[in-house]
Amino acid sequence: MLNLVLFGPPGAGKGTQSENLIDKFCLVHLSTGNLLRAEIMAGTELGLRAKRLMDAGLLVPDEVVIGMIDHKLKENRDAAGFIFDGFPRTVAQAEPLDALLTQNDTAISRMVALNVNDEELTRRLLERGKTSGRPDDQNKALIRQRVREYNEKTRPVADYYAAQGKFSAVDGIGEIDGIFANICGEIEKTR
Ligand code: AMP
Repeated sequence: MLNLVLFGPPGAGKGTQSENLIDKFCLVHLSTGNLLRAEIMAGTELGLRAKRLMDAGLLVPDEVVIGMIDHKLKENRDAAGFIFDGFPRTVAQAEPLDALLTQNDTAISRMVALNVNDEELTRRLLERGKTSGRPDDQNKALIRQRVREYNEKTRPVADYYAAQGKFSAVDGIGEIDGIFANICGEIEKTR
């Protein structure tokens, strides 16, 4: 199996590059942000609780997203592999993910990080906010809060995979196709 973690701050291009990777490698896309937004749309209790945190630019509790991922892994037992987008966002999510994958006789193949500076992230998110309808993309203070959460809680996840020799980073600024080629180059190193 090819199990990839696409890593980077909000606005780094994880969603866009996930689409390209799914097409090339036939992977199942697991975006915890998309799964949470689907819960909100469906008006579930989980969605209502998550919405309050998401609208404040804060992470939702680890056990909530781990539960959703566990469910999706079980639902897709025959997958050629997974692309994790926006997950794991804390080391406390990365550890149980390893355990869940081990139970299924598989593991993370590689984490690829997209490097983008804060100024460019803010510009991209405000631009996306004009059409995405996402309340968390439409306000500079909220974007700053999301980047703060990323720097405090999510950045250490890179060290977690680096310690396993599974971490790569590519420049996330430039042409989408060029960035995609660089990501593929990093993935090929693992195959
Ligand atoms: P995203 O679509 O990945 O930008 O996620 C949007 C929001 O959903 C984040 O700002 C968090 O509030 C929440 N969220 C998504 N994925 C996670 C996760 N793995 N852990 C905690 N919160 C998450």
